[in-house]
Amino acid sequence: MPARAEERSAVIDLEAIRHNVRHLAAVASPAKIMAVVKADAYGHGAVQVARAALGAGASWLGTAHISEALALRAAGIEAPLLAWLHTPDSNFAAAVAAGIDIGCSGWELDRIVAAAREQERPARIHLKVDTGLGRNGATLDAWDSLVGEAMEYQDQGLLRVVGIFSHLAVADEPERPETDEQLAAFRQILAVAQDAGVDPEVRHLANTPATLSRPDTHFDLVRVGLGLYGLSPFEGQSPAELGLRPAMTVRTVVSHCKDVPAGQGVSYGLNYRTDGVSTLGLIPLGYADGVPRIATGGPVRVEGVNYPVVGRIAMDQMVIDLGPRNVTAGGPSILGAEAVLFGDGADGGPTADDWARAAGTNNYEIVTRISPRVPRRYI
Ligand code: PLP
Repeated sequence: MPARAEERSAVIDLEAIRHNVRHLAAVASPAKIMAVVKADAYGHGAVQVARAALGAGASWLGTAHISEALALRAAGIEAPLLAWLHTPDSNFAAAVAAGIDIGCSGWELDRIVAAAREQERPARIHLKVDTGLGRNGATLDAWDSLVGEAMEYQDQGLLRVVGIFSHLAVADEPERPETDEQLAAFRQILAVAQDAGVDPEVRHLANTPATLSRPDTHFDLVRVGLGLYGLSPFEGQSPAELGLRPAMTVRTVVSHCKDVPAGQGVSYGLNYRTDGVSTLGLIPLGYADGVPRIATGGPVRVEGVNYPVVGRIAMDQMVIDLGPRNVTAGGPSILGAEAVLFGDGADGGPTADDWARAAGTNNYEIVTRISPRVPRRYI
């Protein structure tokens, strides 16, 4: 019996999102909260999460791409909104027209100014500096001249420098020294900007791990993604220990159930064979749904027990081995029983961290890659 579409779902608990915003806001206070909702809010649904986060006290939204920010504006969301990752053909004019703040590492400046001229409206920019992550952001050497150029354009009424920001590389590993080095560099570039007459509304550096562990990085605004979704950035520390509640539960139902003899091979490659007479349960989720193909062994909870996935994870389905339940001899069938891949982990259920371990990745990737094929349901 195939599962109905709604029997495969990612359930998003918006009250958990609101709780996490309130908690992070209390931790970060007096700094404000930017809810990072790029990548469809790490797979949770950008519009729904943005609304919930704003309702719970977030005052800014952040995305990587202008297109993601435009989608939020198209949904009627008017909060301050920053997009920070661009390509030469990014639609700066649409961003200016929609009042979207634009992160600027340097090369974008002339394009942003051209967009402002075209729209006859000053652009709102946040100057980004690379204090050590080695991705975008102006180099420390280029900072002086970028600030000078931006101030010239500001004096001409073509833009306003609303923010100055940078991004941390190792805040999830609090014992490492590089966060201190990045913080020192950030303070230095702020001083240079101040000397040049820049007076930004917001200076921002912290992501979730820095928000939770480094008050000295908070400045005026913290950009929180992972924590908003209730996940822990720290190895060995659970969300509950950090006061967070995971918001996403990926669940389905067992879509086929049968007894097999000892030695039954399971899934492509027949890499797994049953030890003895066994009951196999089919889970109708696979790598097309965003379950990592490499994550054999990842736990699925059925009727209060976590069973590891056995054999290869396929495009649409995977298999758990429930051992000798002996359905055909009259044991209870688990056809149609709820199967939880991950959720908040209450009562010992599996978590995104368990799947991250099974896949050799992090919890960010586990939730973000749950594909649009899995319907989102909001509670
Ligand atoms: N700021 C920037 C520039 C980012 O790219 C990200 C996400 O990668 C964040 C903030 C949010 O980070 P986190 O999810 O660790 O809070």
